[in-house]
Amino acid sequence: MNSAQACPVFRSRLLDWYQRNRRDLPWRENRDPYRIWLSEIMLQQTRVAAVVDHYGKFLIRFPTNKKLASARESSVLAAWSGLGYYRRARMLHAAGKEIVKRYAGRFPRTADELRALPGIGRYTAAAIASIAFDEPIAVVDGNVERVIERLVGERLPKKELWQTAQELLSPRRPGDFNQAMMELGATICLPREPMCLACPVRGMCATRGELSRAGKKTRQKKQIHFALDCHQGAVFLVERPKHASLMPGMWELPEIPGHNGTAKAWLTLRHSITVTDYLVRVARCPAPQGICGSWFSHRRLAKLPLTGLARKILRAANVI
Ligand code: SF4
Repeated sequence: MNSAQACPVFRSRLLDWYQRNRRDLPWRENRDPYRIWLSEIMLQQTRVAAVVDHYGKFLIRFPTNKKLASARESSVLAAWSGLGYYRRARMLHAAGKEIVKRYAGRFPRTADELRALPGIGRYTAAAIASIAFDEPIAVVDGNVERVIERLVGERLPKKELWQTAQELLSPRRPGDFNQAMMELGATICLPREPMCLACPVRGMCATRGELSRAGKKTRQKKQIHFALDCHQGAVFLVERPKHASLMPGMWELPEIPGHNGTAKAWLTLRHSITVTDYLVRVARCPAPQGICGSWFSHRRLAKLPLTGLARKILRAANVI
């Protein structure tokens, strides 16, 4: 594809297709920057189907940035529970406070201003600025990267990807265009077996199929063992260290260290975090000696910031 010549036709085909086929998602109901920002943060590392349910519940709890900014961090983390990657929730909360403090509650309108807020990188800043405020700035996420590379027929370095996306962008409808590119990647130009016959821009695509992929990340497999210690309507949990790189300050079941995996598990389930697939084995037994933790009544668990895995185990065990 020669982007300079093909741009007007490319834009109109893509935008027409988007108009007719876009998914009806809750964050597309209006252009409220708070709602768009929240959806973009939740969608990082998380599938659309998993986000939809959490998104509605989070908005009921925190319908505006003012409500979010004035909340306690533990309440924000509890509302985020189940989505994983809790650093996102902490950054969201910190950015919400900064909008109140630095901008008197008025949402920043440009990608440059947005990018200065905690947890907002180049992609998220461009997505919010283009969708909520019509700033003519392109986005590149995993979906857009795949679409562009197939269109041009080769792998591109990051800098060229962003440049090509910017050349293709519709200056009159940047928000719709960006969403259309991402939608095309999410629903038609799929990672495996793209549906080229249904693609609105196949006439301009150099590949019409998959590009060969080198250096794909391999997934690791691990086993992990936990103790489910319940007594008189309470469960024993452990707080993750405040300095932990993953999920600091969240609560989880006590781990049984050095377990050889041969003891009979009361409950077995699978859980994936980033590139690791865990086989999780849960024994119904007292927490190992010397582990510091606290007892929580089942009622208090609803408001506690639990890790996604702890919530999954407690649900499977009918504790919550
Ligand atoms: S023709 Fe196929 S490979 Fe090319 S952009 Fe469309 S779906 Fe992707």
